[in-house]
Amino acid sequence: MLVECESCLAKVQVAVIGSYIRQFEPDWMYNVQFSLCKCPVCLNPILIEQELDFPPFEQDPEWGNPKIIYPHNSFHINPVIPQSLNRSLLESIKCFKAGALTASIIMSRKTLEAFCIEKGIKENNLALSIKKLKEEGIINDQIYEWANGLRLAGNKAAHGFDTDFEHLDAKDVLDFTIAILDFTYSFKDKFEKFKIRVNQTDELMSTTRTE
Ligand SMILES: [Zn+2]
Repeated sequence: MLVECESCLAKVQVAVIGSYIRQFEPDWMYNVQFSLCKCPVCLNPILIEQELDFPPFEQDPEWGNPKIIYPHNSFHINPVIPQSLNRSLLESIKCFKAGALTASIIMSRKTLEAFCIEKGIKENNLALSIKKLKEEGIINDQIYEWANGLRLAGNKAAHGFDTDFEHLDAKDVLDFTIAILDFTYSFKDKFEKFKIRVNQTDELMSTTRTE
């Protein structure tokens, strides 16, 4: 069976290790076949799902196009990320999947610019905006370092005519972009709410004690 291996970024003839057919009685036409395969190049596992295909002229049905259900072919995008950032982030992912690595890095940098604007920071350049994000406590030292690395990679992608980005570089830049947004919109917000909750409980306990 020929499938696209996400690690090798190439079509490979996989070896089927084992299969399981989920049967639906009496509606057998809805049967689904799951096959655990092995990429012959990187040796990674690939799980495939196939539905039945019904060719014309009363031929026997056969298993249809293989759909990869593992590894997940998508990046995790937090649903709480604002729409204005989501658009450029999705475009960066789309470019990455299409193998347009330089374009993907440039879109990641754009996402970072949009993030600064969304946080109300609009300095003369991205370096100053990132510095301001740190000064205002929106990001911590670690995220500041990631954001700066991302900015530099973005500069290289936009202006370095001789620069050829590796697949791994673009993947890292994208992962860092997602992590920065995740940190801010998920963990930081969650922690702030947690702190408020804990403080309220503490206050409640101390008033009950003094009453
Ligand atoms: Zn592979």
